[in-house]
Amino acid sequence: MKKGKKIYEGKAKILFDTDKPDLVIQEFKDDATAFDATKRGTIEQKGVMNNEISCALFRLLESKGIPTHFVKKLSEREMLVKKLDIVMVEVTIRNISAGGLSKLLGIEEGIVLKKPVLEYHYKNDGLHDPLINDYHIEMLGLATDKEMKKIKDYSFSVNEILKDFFNKVGLKLVDFKLEFGRHKGKILLGDEISPDTCRLWDKKTNEKLDKDRFRRDLGKIEEAYQEVLKRIKS
Ligand code: 5GP
Repeated sequence: MKKGKKIYEGKAKILFDTDKPDLVIQEFKDDATAFDATKRGTIEQKGVMNNEISCALFRLLESKGIPTHFVKKLSEREMLVKKLDIVMVEVTIRNISAGGLSKLLGIEEGIVLKKPVLEYHYKNDGLHDPLINDYHIEMLGLATDKEMKKIKDYSFSVNEILKDFFNKVGLKLVDFKLEFGRHKGKILLGDEISPDTCRLWDKKTNEKLDKDRFRRDLGKIEEAYQEVLKRIKS
């Protein structure tokens, strides 16, 4: 697979063209940002760990029937993925109150929700990824009803699969964010699934093992990502 031109650089990843028009290379960086990129830093080896974690989770989801953009791991920091026309909607699923939900509704963190809560956010940095609903999505023409039904069904399925998987390795899946895209007329799960995009708490101690360690200056950031990787590989 020939690595071509850089086509996009985001906060945590870079996309490169390949010699195949429908495939791109997703390269993971060590850069970390939070709060609309007002907080910036580097997490040593994050790109390597997130690539390995994401590859493992995409393989797991594919094996359970969730269509994803994942093709194969290419190197320490690179995965080969199907090129997507990204749906500009971020899907968040929450199992335990934390972060944005606690702030939005004024509830303490750590409350186990009776059933998972799904949120949509408009993928728009300038507007700070505002919370939106199906009506806004239709109004803005971000996706069709049919596409959103698929996205919602896949998201809840991903939650069940990942909750069960993390539970088995001693982690609580508190919440996470997914992104989807279109590829040859189909909706596929895209982006990454890693401690950058999931909140993961140790089952016994509730220790945070995710990007909140960076966001909230809790220290031992690299160690937390390493611990998640170790458990996923166990
Ligand atoms: P919250 O809305 O509580 O800030 O985030 C909910 C979950 O989605 C967390 O696991 C968080 O890591 C993830 N998430 C939401 N938006 C983003 C984003 O723009 N970037 C990243 N890396 N994760 C996000």
